[in-house]
Amino acid sequence: MNDLAQEAARLDAADPLAICRSEFLIDDDLAYLDGNSLGALPKAAPARVAQVVQKEWGEQLIASWNDAGWIGLPQKMGSKIAPLIGAQTHEVIATDTTSINLFKLISAALAMRPGRKQVLSEPGNFPSDLYMIEGLEAQGLAERRLAERGDIEAALDENVALLLLTHVHYKTGEMFDMVRLTKAAHDVGALVLWDLSHSAGAVPVDLNGANADFAVGCGYKYLNGGPGAPAFAFVAEGHLANLQQPLSGWMGHNAPFAFEDDYQPAQGVDRLLCSTPSVIAMSALEVGVDLIAMIGMGPLVEKSRALSEFTRAAMARHVPELTCISPADPAQRGSQLSFRHEHSYELCQALIARKVIGDFRAPDVLRVGFAPAYVRYADCARLVSELRDILDSGEWQKPEYAERGAVT
Ligand SMILES: *Cc1c(COP(=O)(O)O)cnc(C)c1O
Repeated sequence: MNDLAQEAARLDAADPLAICRSEFLIDDDLAYLDGNSLGALPKAAPARVAQVVQKEWGEQLIASWNDAGWIGLPQKMGSKIAPLIGAQTHEVIATDTTSINLFKLISAALAMRPGRKQVLSEPGNFPSDLYMIEGLEAQGLAERRLAERGDIEAALDENVALLLLTHVHYKTGEMFDMVRLTKAAHDVGALVLWDLSHSAGAVPVDLNGANADFAVGCGYKYLNGGPGAPAFAFVAEGHLANLQQPLSGWMGHNAPFAFEDDYQPAQGVDRLLCSTPSVIAMSALEVGVDLIAMIGMGPLVEKSRALSEFTRAAMARHVPELTCISPADPAQRGSQLSFRHEHSYELCQALIARKVIGDFRAPDVLRVGFAPAYVRYADCARLVSELRDILDSGEWQKPEYAERGAVT
């Protein structure tokens, strides 16, 4: 174990991104391996939010819609997120939540494939992705079909309107081949919607390169936008002119301030808007996205793979009773590793008590994420040595570690 800590110290010393951790407000003794669930707080965010609240809202009040550029925040944030996911700036908008954007885009896709009702996904996809299809099914607009990931290509046929997949699986970290599956869907005339919640800011994504139709993603995971941060949505340029979405709120109107009785969708991706932008949340998101853009996806991806490889090897060697269920090839997984153990929940609680933060996903998965902007090799080494100690000492059996909170 000493060797492991020494190796980690050597890698941290040589890490060109080590300096980036100081851009986040995060205790030095905290091994935070849960940035895939809630990204850390960028140091510049509190001051930025305070400025928006005290100055732009407190002093300048309603003038800030124009003067502080509030009204353009969804487009501005869309254009900043676009290069991180291989999209053009006018194809992405930041608005609403991932779940709501899923609803809008599943509906839009169904409207573009009249005569087809099936939305194909995989069992075990993120709950909202599956539930949103169900919601449309209850209205008679969609038919949900599920195929195990190995059977998806075989399940694609001319009844499928839309293939809806999460690029990096939230529980296992498995990553789909976006190019191959997008092409397979297009070959049967289906559209594709990618959920990038565990991809944006963590793995290479090239939506245009893959010829993807639609995408959604989360602002509060690797983009560090803060709890409940606005999400983003992508529509390929070629679909923008025909896109119809059912949440036809006034902000998606072609001329919101004409206050007309009849809805006319805005030009381009703006038609995905529904409501007034959440300005304070958007300002926090901007700080998070700016940081990720400044560091750059190339270096982030490289470090993410190095961190997860270091951890995978160390876990296999020192804690073999936990079974890694993430793909062994870093090119086939996201920036996380998932391990199966009968007592994963208790192990996770015992780790948290030692300031090593991962998370638990039912029924038996311990999940650790590597947000490459601030995770250190030393954090990964600590995960391994603390786990070894927790198992050897039996500390995980303490009754308080079996109690479950509302959020796990
Ligand atoms: C986190 C996550 C979401 C979050 O949806 P919200 O509407 O923001 O709660 C959606 N999809 C996936 C795959 C996620 O991992």
